[in-house]
Amino acid sequence: MNSNKDNFSEVLIVGGGVIGLSIARELHRRGARRITVLERGKVGRESSYAAAGMLAPNAETEKADDFTKFCAESLDLYNKFAEELFGETDVNIELDRSGTVYAAFTDHDSAEIRRRYDWQKRAGLAVEFLSAEETRRAEPFVSPDVRESLFFPFDWQVENRKLLHALEKFAELNRIKIVENAEVKSLLTENGKIGGVRTVDADFSADAVVLATGAWTSLIENGGDIALPEIKPVRGQIIGFQTAKRLFERVIYSPRGYLVPRRDGRILIGATVEDAGFDKNITAAGTEFLRAVAMEISPSLASLEIAETWAGLRPLAADGLPVLGAVAAAKNLFIATAHYRNGILLAPLTAKILAERIAENKDSEYLRIFSPNRFKTAAAT
Ligand SMILES: Cc1cc2nc3c(=O)[nH]c(=O)nc-3n(C[C@H](O)[C@H](O)[C@H](O)COP(=O)(O)OP(=O)(O)OC[C@H]3O[C@@H](n4cnc5c(N)ncnc54)[C@H](O)[C@@H]3O)c2cc1C
Repeated sequence: MNSNKDNFSEVLIVGGGVIGLSIARELHRRGARRITVLERGKVGRESSYAAAGMLAPNAETEKADDFTKFCAESLDLYNKFAEELFGETDVNIELDRSGTVYAAFTDHDSAEIRRRYDWQKRAGLAVEFLSAEETRRAEPFVSPDVRESLFFPFDWQVENRKLLHALEKFAELNRIKIVENAEVKSLLTENGKIGGVRTVDADFSADAVVLATGAWTSLIENGGDIALPEIKPVRGQIIGFQTAKRLFERVIYSPRGYLVPRRDGRILIGATVEDAGFDKNITAAGTEFLRAVAMEISPSLASLEIAETWAGLRPLAADGLPVLGAVAAAKNLFIATAHYRNGILLAPLTAKILAERIAENKDSEYLRIFSPNRFKTAAAT
């Protein structure tokens, strides 16, 4: 094994998705200087690239709980995150604050949005009720079959591929070392601590290691000393249309899927939710389902050809919540994964609390709530 001084880092981050790259940036901003990101393939090309970029605390949560609060607080960081990234890298991540419409097309949908309206109002979230006419006035290309809708003024979107580009550029400009095609196979443990990690080609040592390995986290070997929480991949397929100009102002949800309009006239329709292991293939059934979602939201898309399709693997923990913080059995090993459907939304706050913990030993209530040690499989002290 090739292991030398050059392979030493203050903090070694495994996984170069939105979570790993955002943590690298926050650590740098807090003074850490020898930061390395090890990436199995190319950085920013997995789930974070496949995402639709919605920042949707109202549309994506089901009740008022800690997770909803975590989502809302992360959204609160986005204005500053986008502005600072632009200042740091000159990359505009296209933060779009037009809001989201959650539309009902059936009796069942109407009951669902009324239930949502009630709990969100009670929880003090920003939500407005729109009649069919108000919905069509706001979004003329939405189906005439729309019955009513909710408007979430604080459910936004971002161009996630530009976000990844900005984070990668930040790393380059600030000498955060990125090593691609470096798959971490195992953790190197020494007396209850992590000494580093082993890839096929080399060992890398570090004072602290962060696993931001998304859906692949459970594949890392740890010699049985440290039980990592079980993370499952959940496939999501998306189809995209291209229009000459933007037809929709806002993101449009239905209980079956969503439509995300991009500035350049692209329209994304997502997403399937499938238990397909690590298979990222596009399927005919997936495409057909998404086409039906698109036609239901907006029959005016019927004449358009599908311009692109892709799929990604969302990282899901057993209880559906993020897994964030130090592993009890090895105090210098941190995990930041299982953001499931909301990793783009949750990147700024995840990065902030992990970096504060690692660089400044500062705790956050969220590191307790989303601790990796809450699972029986994790080695608790
Ligand atoms: C179709 C779809 C739509 C989505 N839409 C949204 C949305 O609108 N809004 C939102 O907030 N979220 C959305 N998500 C979820 C979001 O994409 C994820 O929660 C988020 O990208 C997770 O980020 P990550 O960095 O943990 O994972 P990833 O982006 O998957 O990054 C993990 C990285 O770790 C690397 N890696 C793994 N194992 C190793 C190893 N052993 N060694 C080295 N490198 C390794 C991988 O190659 C990968 O690059 C969507 C996801 C999908 C699939």
